[in-house]
Amino acid sequence: MNTYDLTGKTAVVTGASRGIGQGIAEGLLNAGANVITLQRGPITADLAALASARQLTVEDIAVDLSNEQSITDAIARALSTAQVDILVNSAGTQIRHDSTDFPLEDYDSVMNVNARAVFQLCKGFAPPMLERGSGKIINLASLLSFQGGLRVPAYAASKGAVAQLTKAMCNEWAPRGINVNAVAPGYFATDMNAALIADADRSEQISARIPAGRWGKAEDISGAVVFLASSAADYINGVVLPVDGGWLAR
Ligand code: NAP
Repeated sequence: MNTYDLTGKTAVVTGASRGIGQGIAEGLLNAGANVITLQRGPITADLAALASARQLTVEDIAVDLSNEQSITDAIARALSTAQVDILVNSAGTQIRHDSTDFPLEDYDSVMNVNARAVFQLCKGFAPPMLERGSGKIINLASLLSFQGGLRVPAYAASKGAVAQLTKAMCNEWAPRGINVNAVAPGYFATDMNAALIADADRSEQISARIPAGRWGKAEDISGAVVFLASSAADYINGVVLPVDGGWLAR
C-alpha cells in the first residue's frame, strides 16, 4: 500500500494561481487528488493541463480573501461541489514599510488575508470533516512564524498567528480525526519576494545563509504538503514544519 497516495481525495488549495500554491496544487494532482482552487485570479493553463493529463479535475473558484462574505460564498460553493478531504491555506500577501511608517490599513489588510481568512476557512471546512471523523488541514506558516524579519511587522504578526492557530485548532480537532499542521517555507523565488530578488546585495546575503545553498523550488514544498495530506502523516498533529534548506538551523 502506498500511504502517500491521494487517489479519490479532493483538496482545496487557496492561492493556487501562482507561486507556492500552484506548486502545491500540482503536487496534490500528481499524488492523485482532485483539486479545487480559491483565489482572485484564474489558474494557469499548465495547472489545467496537468489535471486533464492525469484524468483528474481542477475547479477554479474566485474569492477575495480580504472579504468575509466572499469567503463564506466560496466555502459553500466548494462544499456543494465535492467532499473536501484536504484544505491547504496557501494564499498570502506581503506589504513592506518601516514600523514607524506602517499604515494601519496595510496592517489590517495583511492580517485579514494571512490570518483572519485562514481561521475562517478552517472554521468553514472543518465541520463536514469532523462529522466524518477525518480530514487534513495544512496552513502556510513562514520563517517569520519563528523570527521577526525586517520591515514586515504585519506579515510577521500574521505568520505568528498562523502557527498558533494551527496548534489551537489541532488541540480541538485532533481527537476528532482532523490533522491540523503547518509548513513553514524558507526563501522561495516567487512574486512575493520580487523586491528581495531585485536587491542583489540582499539576495546574495540570503543565499549565503542557506545551508542547502539555494532558494526553494515549488516541488520542495509540495512534497511536504503531500506527506502531511496523506495517511503517512496520520499521527502528526500540530507541527509547524520548516522547509527551509536549513535556514533555521544556522
Ligand atoms: P505569491 O506568489 O505572491 O502568491 C500569492 C497567492 O495568494 C496568489 O495565488 C494570490 O492569488 C493569492 N492571494 C493573495 N491575496 C489574495 C486575496 N486577497 N484573495 C485571494 N487570493 C489572494 O506568494 P507565494 O510566495 O506563493 O506564497 C504562498 C504562501 O507561502 C503565502 O502564505 C506566503 O506567506 C507563504 N510563504 C512564502 C514564502 C516565499 O519565500 N515565497 C516564504 C514563507 C512563506 P490572486 O492574486 O490570483 O488572488
